[in-house]
Amino acid sequence: MILSGCVAVTAAWAQRPAVHAVVDLAHEFSFYADGRFARQYLDGHKAVTSWGALYRLDLTNANLLVLLACAPQLKYVPEDVAAIQGFLSEGGGVALFGVSDSGPQNELARIFGATFAKGARPPLRPVEALGVAEVQGGVGMRLALEQPDRWTVLVSDAGGDPVAAMRRVGKGRLLVLARSLAGQRPDASDPVNAAWLAPVLERLAAGKPVDPSRPFRGRGLTPGDTVEDHDGLKLHYSDYLKPYARAMFDISQRVKPVLEARMGVPLSEGMASEIGLLATGGGGFSSGRVIGLAVWWGGFPEREDSMIEFISHESVHSWVLPFAEIWNEPIATYVGNLVMIDMGHAEEANRRIERTIAGARKHDPEMRLYDLEGKSLSGAPRLEGGALRDIHWGKTYWIWEELRKERPDILARYFQAKRRLAQPGTVTSYGPNETVAVLSAALGRDLFPWFREHGFDVARERSQVL
Ligand SMILES: [Zn+2]
Repeated sequence: MILSGCVAVTAAWAQRPAVHAVVDLAHEFSFYADGRFARQYLDGHKAVTSWGALYRLDLTNANLLVLLACAPQLKYVPEDVAAIQGFLSEGGGVALFGVSDSGPQNELARIFGATFAKGARPPLRPVEALGVAEVQGGVGMRLALEQPDRWTVLVSDAGGDPVAAMRRVGKGRLLVLARSLAGQRPDASDPVNAAWLAPVLERLAAGKPVDPSRPFRGRGLTPGDTVEDHDGLKLHYSDYLKPYARAMFDISQRVKPVLEARMGVPLSEGMASEIGLLATGGGGFSSGRVIGLAVWWGGFPEREDSMIEFISHESVHSWVLPFAEIWNEPIATYVGNLVMIDMGHAEEANRRIERTIAGARKHDPEMRLYDLEGKSLSGAPRLEGGALRDIHWGKTYWIWEELRKERPDILARYFQAKRRLAQPGTVTSYGPNETVAVLSAALGRDLFPWFREHGFDVARERSQVL
């Protein structure tokens, strides 16, 4: 009886039913969940992401719901549970991934009679019907099932305990499995277990036909469930993040004028005009117009120093456009550290600046060997990996600290000069030569010799900025 469910898995693979999948991002944001999971396991199918509250999403033309994670600060609210149960009863498939210490995933799994528990014993064994010889990942978590006869076990550990199992709920199917049975890299380079997981997901979805000719849409970061308009600045957030919205808006508003003073120029028109809140403590992004901010970054809202650095960082990415910087990542954090100083966190900010510079000195004590890409004019071997990162960040910080000793407002002067001299109409690329030319104009003296002395292959003749 257990195997018959799995034989059907292989049969379903042959028929390839249309899958319309929704990958939930609202309970926990990750770059992996944003498209990578679908690329690895739902090839040839339609998949969308949902950045807003799950229960607000129209699931009429969807047949697969992928729940990868839920941040410990959040949970599946009763409206979510009702939406999930309704979806299952109509024949939809739900893939619930979990780890043993994930409270919210466990709370949801228990409603259906499963618990993510610690301690799977390797090696993991696939059931024969999956058609694979071995299973990757999955170690560390096993499932405790309340009524084992209701479940079809797909993978078990060496002791016979389930690690992935599927059951019927209403007309639909629920798959509960260890999170490590799927990939996680943002570059989608780790499609672990795709050989059996992809057909299992198709089988999950098969209970609810979808219509590929009808619209099937997810929901992006903008517009969020709530959109607040503050004199043109739009703040988007899901219902789940409402408790953090006020604190996030407040700090972003306090950072902005301080940042603008440091940058010396206002944001370009339309840039960073929308902020979306992300349910994560790690990572954010800037697309120019939209900035995505992690609401629990650096212990926020209890602590705000790292959040100041982070908001500044993402804002600077928008601020420097249309031309990204040669030191795009480090300068964004460096400006964040200066804003931290201005907002009462000087000790911590200076510690971060010194630590970053010290990282570069390990490889280049006199700061004369390498450019920001780890290349050397003096024949030293090219840097890679962690050493390259140390140089890229530490040398950027060191250059700016040196220039700031000469002119404390050099950063503002630099960005003012950049706006004046590097216009998209006259400049087509903005690399090291253009950067040094603009810096020279900002400082009022020729910096090309100084940069060459410190390892940069730059020349004024090669600069598009005159
Ligand atoms: Zn960045």
